[in-house]
Amino acid sequence: MAGEPQDDCLFCKIVAGHVPATIVRETETTVAFRDINPQAPTHVLVIPKAHYKNAAELAAAEPVLAADVLREAQSVADEEKLESYRVVFNTGAGAGQTVWHAHAHVLGGRGLQWPPG
Ligand code: IMP
Repeated sequence: MAGEPQDDCLFCKIVAGHVPATIVRETETTVAFRDINPQAPTHVLVIPKAHYKNAAELAAAEPVLAADVLREAQSVADEEKLESYRVVFNTGAGAGQTVWHAHAHVLGGRGLQWPPG
């Protein structure tokens, strides 16, 4: 069921503490941890603890929780002292989504090209 932990979901396992991660922030509803394959000096993933397969499903089902994720992305940027940064929600395989638990990438610490590839 939407929102419930999924046994086969990597990020649900990180939320549960069953898979290690370098956690930089945690709230009642979200976790932020460093990406295992960083694409910038700061590359942190912010996820809702509840399982939704992508940002669209999250925003439709729990808009307040989606806002929590965005607020935490800003808090990560503040903590990392990023003047400029990018928040990315890859949504769908064609956009590069590989983990099917909604997550915001927070990228910064270097110049970022536009448009992205
Ligand atoms: P996506 O491609 O937008 O779905 O992003 C998934 C991200 O999760 C990728 O940037 C991966 O490098 C990252 N990732 C995969 N496994 C782990 C992990 O165990 N810890 C932290 N990040 C991970």
